[in-house]
Amino acid sequence: MTLRARLALGLAIIAVVLLVPLLVVRERLGRLHTQVIELRDREFKASLALGKLRDALGDVAGRETALGIVKNDTVHRQLLEAIRTAQGHAATLTSASQDSAARTLVTKLEAMPELAVREYEAIKAGADPDSVSAAIMGPAMAEVERAIRPIESSILNATSTRVEQAESALDEAEKLSAAALIVALALATVIAIWLTRSISGPVQALERGMRAVAEGELEPPLDLSSQRADEFGRLAVSFRTMSRQLAELDKLKAEFVSVASHELKTPINVILGYLQLMQDGMFGPLSAKQTEVLTTIESQGKTLARLAAHLLDVTRFEAGGGRIDPRPLRLAALFEELERAFHVLAVQRGVEFRVTMADGVPNEVRWDEDRINEVMGNLLANAFKFTGAGGHVELSAAPSDRSVRIEVRDSGAGIPPEQLPHIFQKFYQADNQGAASARGSGLGLAIAKEIVEAHHGTIRCESTVGEGTTFTLLLPDEVDARRRTDQHRTPELEAVS
Ligand code: ADP
Repeated sequence: MTLRARLALGLAIIAVVLLVPLLVVRERLGRLHTQVIELRDREFKASLALGKLRDALGDVAGRETALGIVKNDTVHRQLLEAIRTAQGHAATLTSASQDSAARTLVTKLEAMPELAVREYEAIKAGADPDSVSAAIMGPAMAEVERAIRPIESSILNATSTRVEQAESALDEAEKLSAAALIVALALATVIAIWLTRSISGPVQALERGMRAVAEGELEPPLDLSSQRADEFGRLAVSFRTMSRQLAELDKLKAEFVSVASHELKTPINVILGYLQLMQDGMFGPLSAKQTEVLTTIESQGKTLARLAAHLLDVTRFEAGGGRIDPRPLRLAALFEELERAFHVLAVQRGVEFRVTMADGVPNEVRWDEDRINEVMGNLLANAFKFTGAGGHVELSAAPSDRSVRIEVRDSGAGIPPEQLPHIFQKFYQADNQGAASARGSGLGLAIAKEIVEAHHGTIRCESTVGEGTTFTLLLPDEVDARRRTDQHRTPELEAVS
């Protein structure tokens, strides 16, 4: 299934799953709403009819009393009329409450007109109205009253029953919606996890691959099949093609630079050799002008030779993926060798060269001797290059928490503060070249930084124009033969003025 189809399916299922409880709750609430409306209408109608019935019965009682006093046909008609009105309200009450008591009430009221006629006839015949009322209408009215009471309480009961029903329906809807929501959320979570896993797994594999490429491993193993039918399968194919091409290109580049710089060395050495012979007068005496020109050619030739050598160093180091070959190394021996190597230069330049080693520095360290030699050589060469006669250059080592802190300090020209952050970039040269005794390539510090970081160490520079420069290396005593990590390739340079 393609990524797009998977995403669409996942989202659709999540939408449906969340919609179902919503619909269920909506249906339940709709039912509840109907119940409440019904309840309100019916009870309202019953209560209204009951109130009207009571009014009508009061009217019947009033007319009956009036009949006893006035004793005429008009009041008698009004009494019959009031009884009919009461019957009408009783009928409404029956339909609203659907109670058997209401039907009893109707029956009682149906008998009343006849009783009213009988009572009127007795009064007309001269009987005492009070005794007639007590014998005929009075008991009937009392029976009607007795019939009304259960209806009243039944209306009240019906209301509370319906309220209870509504409450339990609401309760049920709440429970159902909570359960449905929990199920929906659980399902949505499962789907979301499935979706995330199926996407994040391949993305992480690709990210690991990219990081490896960025760290210099141009053809890393990729934990993602090219056979997959989705977009990740196509990405895996593209990634493998890209990394293969990158590796080939890198190999070609390294080979080219290596061959070119190597091939340059021989003609440069031949040129420098002949120059030396000419300067020594092997081909006849030289005029002052010729000597001057030869000196310039020699200086340029040496610069070219250094550049070729540095280019070779860089390409060899990078072609090896920045790998180092750490072996046990006696620190004192390294320092003695450096002191010997730079002693002549120091004497020639009239620069004092001090080499010191503080107590506590480990006898033996585990570094790549050739590479560290190269770093120290570059730093010391720079120090002598930028320090005039009468100045001093100092090489020192001190212990520092399972690391060795090496400083190369000079009292030379210094580096302008705004240029300090760039000095470790390839081919960068600060504008203090006027103070340099020889031309450089701008590659020495870049190589030094790469080598130090391959040793999991740091290099930083502090400098003050006119006062001097100090390079400080911090190298762990023991280094494994690990590849450089991304952290060691960051362009952020630890350079302060
Ligand atoms: P280069 O071959 O030009 O010396 P590097 O990479 O070794 O190249 O140094 C880069 C630049 O840093 C130099 O050109 C110089 O401007 C500055 N620099 C390095 N070391 C020193 C130093 N000890 N004193 C003054 N400037 C220095």
